[in-house]
Order: sequence, then structure tokens, then C-alpha cells
Amino acid sequence: MQKIGLFGGTFDPVHHGHLAVGRAALQQLGFATLYFIPASSPPHKPEQLITPFAHRVAMLRLAVQGEPRFVVSDIEGLRSGPSYTIDTLLQFRRDLGPEADFYFIIGLDAFADLTSWKRYEELLRRTSFVVIARPSHGCRTVAQVVAESFPGYQQEAEGIWGRQGSNRIYALEMEPVPVSSSLIRDRLRQGEPIDDLSPAGVVDYLQRHRLFPAAEKKGGEI
Ligand code: ATP
Repeated sequence: MQKIGLFGGTFDPVHHGHLAVGRAALQQLGFATLYFIPASSPPHKPEQLITPFAHRVAMLRLAVQGEPRFVVSDIEGLRSGPSYTIDTLLQFRRDLGPEADFYFIIGLDAFADLTSWKRYEELLRRTSFVVIARPSHGCRTVAQVVAESFPGYQQEAEGIWGRQGSNRIYALEMEPVPVSSSLIRDRLRQGEPIDDLSPAGVVDYLQRHRLFPAAEKKGGEI
């Protein structure tokens, strides 16, 4: 079996927090490859408010340069309609074959909401989950969410839960990186620098393509 990480998100835009998650997951779980999978039409976000898919993919490709085990997948851009994770997972299974052992990386907030996802029980059978606890998401822990929302799971070791017939749930251990895509969008709209928030190639891309431009100053204003 080959361990494969799948990291889905909007990545609008990608930032140092996403890359830190990827590196921590790679180190903790030893993936052969970690795929960053931008959602083309995230079912939980209104499409018109999201940067076009091609820009988000281009920025991810710049961000993972020099990280040989990070790969950007545009698989969700090739389907029409909402980007459901179960469809993506089944496509990865078809593409990589029976030897792939999948680990889906997810924030604690999204994981707590997993029971509203399409065919979530099947997801729990087909992939392990690696859950990121972000301090900005309140003080709930992975252990509390597992106990509240996923009956039958037992703790097997520190930060690992298992259940008959399902894959495991892992808590990702990492130093917090206080960055979000919303912070980058807000800073750009206010004309503030973002150099500390994302790799230089991404910062340059955002500026060249004038994504999230600051409001133009009107003549005559002080
Ligand atoms: P936004 O601010 O627009 O909501 P975001 O920064 O949370 O975006 P997403 O693309 O929605 O970025 O995130 C993809 C996944 O990465 C989510 O599961 C999210 O919880 C996680 N994530 C994003 N930023 C961080 C961070 N700084 N530390 C840990 N996890 C993060």
C-alpha cells in the first residue's frame, strides 16, 4: 500500500498555513504524495464570490514549487456541478488503483460538519481523515468532535481513533500558523502588504493579476 494525502480546500488564495499543514501531515503520516485539490465549485460557498479556478490552480502550482512530494490536482475542475469529495475520492481510486491508501486532510470545523456531506459514511469507509485543529475555530478538540458526531469510534492511541469497518481518524499535530485566505483578501483590498502570508511567487501573481484590488482612491480625497 502507498499512503496518499488528499488536501481539499478553496485555496483562494493558497498561503503559508496550507503549506504548513501539508508539511506536518507529510511528516506525521509519511505520504508518498500529497495532492492539493482546489474545489471548483465548493458546495458550501457561493460560486460567484470565488476567484476563477484557473487562477487558484496557478497559484497553488507556484506555491508547491520545490516541494517534490506536493502535487496540485485539477481533478475538480474537470467535472461540472458541485465538487463533492466522494466523487473526487472515487476518481482518485480509479486513477491510482487498489494499492493507494487514502488520507483526507480536513479542518476541524469542516470535519464537525461532515455528517452533512454527500455519502459521508461511505467517505469514512473509503478514506482515513487527518483533522487539523485550528485555534481560530474555538476550543473544541478533535476528541470532542469524534465523541459527539461519530458514534462507535474508540481511541486507539494518542490522537488516533478507529471503528470496525471504517478507516481511522487522526488528529494532526502542528504549530499554529495564524494565516487565512480571508486575511490575505482583506489586506489586499485595504492595500496592505501580504508578503509574510504566502510564498513570493503567489504574492507576485496576486499583484500581477490584480486579484482582490484595493479600492481606487478618488481624486481630491485627503
Ligand atoms: P478562508 O479564510 O477563505 O475561509 P482558509 O484560509 O480557511 O480560507 P481554505 O482553502 O478554506 O482556506 O482551507 C482549506 C483547509 O485548510 C481547511 O480545512 C482549513 O481549515 C485549513 N486551513 C486553512 N488555513 C489554515 C491554517 N492557517 N492552519 C491550519 N489549517 C488551515
